[in-house]
Amino acid sequence: MAKLHSIIEQLKDAGFKVTPQRRAIIDTLHNHDPKTAHEVFTNLKEDYPDISLDTVYRNLHLLVELGVVTQINLQSRDSARFVISADGHYHYLICIQCGSTVKVDFCPATTRITEDFKFQPIKHVFEVYGYCSQCQNNEVY
Ligand SMILES: [Zn+2]
Ligand SMILES: [Zn+2]
Repeated sequence: MAKLHSIIEQLKDAGFKVTPQRRAIIDTLHNHDPKTAHEVFTNLKEDYPDISLDTVYRNLHLLVELGVVTQINLQSRDSARFVISADGHYHYLICIQCGSTVKVDFCPATTRITEDFKFQPIKHVFEVYGYCSQCQNNEVY
């Protein structure tokens, strides 16, 4: 997990103002489970009654572009979750029942792609959708 201080520095280095709202978004995500934009919005609304959901989306996407925040669940805007980018390379398992996410530290795109296909990957996205162990136990699907 990247340190809060270095995240702020990263934003400044990229030439972005660290507005109180941006800082609050980062604070909301830092050291927490991945949150939806709506959850971030609800969190910020207490301190910033004037903030709009659109502003939250705009800032989250800016942070994603800067690499500070990672978007999980690329399939839909409403269920997308955001998390502070971890140090290192991770992928996520996403429960389509309860929306929980699990971070996994193995990457399917390393050896086989480079060795078997002689292809050098620059960037890739790999997400697994399914049912988490808890939802499997509930057997509601
Ligand atoms: Zn689940
Ligand atoms: Zn990977």
